[in-house]
Amino acid sequence: MNHLHWPFFDERHRTFARELDAWAAAHVRDRHGDDVVATCRALVRELGRAGWLRHAVAGTAHCGAAEVIDTRSICLAREVLARHEGLADFAFAMQGLGSGAISLAGTPAQRARWLPRVAAGEAIAAFALSEPDAGSDVAAMQCAARIEGDEAVLDGEKTWISNGGIADFYVVFCRTGEAPGARGISAFVVEAGTPGFEIAERIDVIAPHPLARLRFTNCRVPLAHRVGAAGEGFKVAMRTLDVFRTSVAAASLGFARRALEEGLQRAQTRPMFGGRLADFQLTQAKLAQMALTVDSSALLVYRAAWERDQGRTVTKQAAMAKLAATEGAQQVIDAAVQLFGGLGVTSGMPVERLYREIRSLRIYEGATEVQQLIIGRELLKEHA
Ligand SMILES: Cc1cc2nc3c(=O)[nH]c(=O)nc-3n(C[C@H](O)[C@H](O)[C@H](O)COP(=O)(O)OP(=O)(O)OC[C@H]3O[C@@H](n4cnc5c(N)ncnc54)[C@H](O)[C@@H]3O)c2cc1C
Repeated sequence: MNHLHWPFFDERHRTFARELDAWAAAHVRDRHGDDVVATCRALVRELGRAGWLRHAVAGTAHCGAAEVIDTRSICLAREVLARHEGLADFAFAMQGLGSGAISLAGTPAQRARWLPRVAAGEAIAAFALSEPDAGSDVAAMQCAARIEGDEAVLDGEKTWISNGGIADFYVVFCRTGEAPGARGISAFVVEAGTPGFEIAERIDVIAPHPLARLRFTNCRVPLAHRVGAAGEGFKVAMRTLDVFRTSVAAASLGFARRALEEGLQRAQTRPMFGGRLADFQLTQAKLAQMALTVDSSALLVYRAAWERDQGRTVTKQAAMAKLAATEGAQQVIDAAVQLFGGLGVTSGMPVERLYREIRSLRIYEGATEVQQLIIGRELLKEHA
């Protein structure tokens, strides 16, 4: 962790990252298993008990570590946890993403009801935005809520929802029709067990974690569960993603660092042609490129995080960080698999797991192509 002396960080960040690293080495390194649901539940509880989840929510009155979410802390947490174990990063990230709308736009009553339990690891959170026909094109969503008295009645589906099936509550974005497109969407908290809400399908992905399609049929929730103003749900979703998009880049950075560590270790110990794999210049060039990608990703991640913590708008910087770090990590991990040869594609090897783990980060919270569009649009605005 020799980037911690960079000027992007305060002393509290350095202490936080070192302490979390030591805790993760003792508690979660390479802890995964066949039963991802049980593993995720246990990880959320342990991260909560150890106090780390306080950094995923805002407001000291609601057990948050600070009044506002500190992007650098979130990024450091994800980088450190991802380096040790992907599911630990997932458990941490989803508590933040799933409750992010409440931290950013919730009423005092909503914050008091859900955030302390999220911070303690006693309630699992989920963020339900995507639909079968509305992924990159979020504003095309069909899931709708109509207002009847003091209730909202939800009908429709959400899919690829992380923590689907194990979450205690879901922040669900629905069309409420105040205006066309993105201006007619509102966010509602739906608690597990609410009549009319069901898990329609559990979805298996290449790096297993709890994921599901959700169905709402005449599902009634109190209007008091609406997060943010009527018709402002799209803005709430985008504000939430603004924080967590940079943290996806940070998680990728953690995966890439682990791949580089594994590759260095293997290259220095693998006997080959009377020497070691590391003796060959081709190997050294590969390691150099991996290190270059890791460092350039880290600079982009912590630039975006630092700028956001200074109160600046970081749309372009976050998009650059996400694009570079996720695509870069895929290349670094692929190079590590190559260094391991046959062992690299053997089930259960850390580099084999990383190879599967990284893939979806190039897709979710805005695919690479979406990040390219954002960067291009921001550049053209700056130079108009
Ligand atoms: C593991 C995993 C976990 C997820 N967790 C969640 C979650 O917790 N909550 C949630 O709401 N969603 C979640 N998602 C959904 C995720 O956000 C969507 O998959 C993502 O937004 C892409 O949408 P899509 O899958 O419908 O792909 P599409 O929108 O169909 O896009 C397919 C591809 O088209 C390309 N593309 C997109 N736009 C353009 C363009 N303008 N020009 C050219 N090419 C383009 C990109 O390559 C993109 O990958 C998750 C997804 C995965 C894989």
